[in-house]
Amino acid sequence: MSKILAITNQKGGVGKTTTSVNLAASLAATQRRVLLIDLDPQGNATVGCGIDKQQLGDTIFEVLTDQAEISDVILPVSQHLHVLPANGDLSAVDLYLMEEIAREGKLRRCVTSISERYEFILIDCPPALGLLTINALAAADAVMIPVQCEYYALEGLAALLETIKKIQKVVNAKLEIDGVLRTMFDPRNSLSNDVSKQLLARFKDKVYRTVIPRNVRLAEAPSHGQPILSYDGKSRGAVAYLALAGELLRRAEQEKNLLALADVPVLSTETY
Ligand code: ATP
Ligand code: MG
Repeated sequence: MSKILAITNQKGGVGKTTTSVNLAASLAATQRRVLLIDLDPQGNATVGCGIDKQQLGDTIFEVLTDQAEISDVILPVSQHLHVLPANGDLSAVDLYLMEEIAREGKLRRCVTSISERYEFILIDCPPALGLLTINALAAADAVMIPVQCEYYALEGLAALLETIKKIQKVVNAKLEIDGVLRTMFDPRNSLSNDVSKQLLARFKDKVYRTVIPRNVRLAEAPSHGQPILSYDGKSRGAVAYLALAGELLRRAEQEKNLLALADVPVLSTETY
């Protein structure tokens, strides 16, 4: 069964794309089949995987507007990592989806046909709570919220949580908050520590244990079209994203064990 994770925060520049690309590559490095969906017209996740967004044929735009089949548009980055690419064309999608009935469920309907091919599907969302992000939340099982450990970090989180609640009520009852991810953490900066404390107080065990440090190698990697693992596998950024992948995998394993336990038939007293 695949797990679909929307990586979202309408605040710009908090590390959504850096997390999407590097978590996807780290999960793929553990031999899990991963699809990274670029749902942002900026196309940063596409570029971060080494794909030239100007040279693309069909993209997610053609998929969402019924001009191409999703399986024809997905590109392999490595054996285990595939990408559904995006570029600026995607910014016109609102106009096209206007006509569509239940337009917030369009991505979910497109992904259904291929979801079983992957163990993880990560969706990199744009910095807005518009139709694209709503499509991601409607398609996802859970949400990962990267929060930059700096000024105004918590600004806008209330609006995001409100949107998640609405989506749960109206279109996707199974949507959960998978966790809040502390990004660009700098332990020498007291503000980073303050923000971290506030997040732990507010979201408790929904805050991932893994913290992503501020690390210049993470900022450099996209201009080389590489995830951090291949750009500098020994850097603190690479180690952190591998640890995050490990945390997700351990959790998935625990959930599976709990489900298996729930399957054990309850013995009635007559059995003894
Ligand atoms: P947008 O809202 O525009 O889509 P985003 O939330 O996807 O932005 P990123 O593009 O991942 O954010 O990151 C913003 C900038 O910060 C980028 O230049 C990126 O390289 C840099 N960056 C992200 N994470 C880190 C980190 N842990 N250490 C250093 N730089 C980082
Ligand atoms: Mg981004």
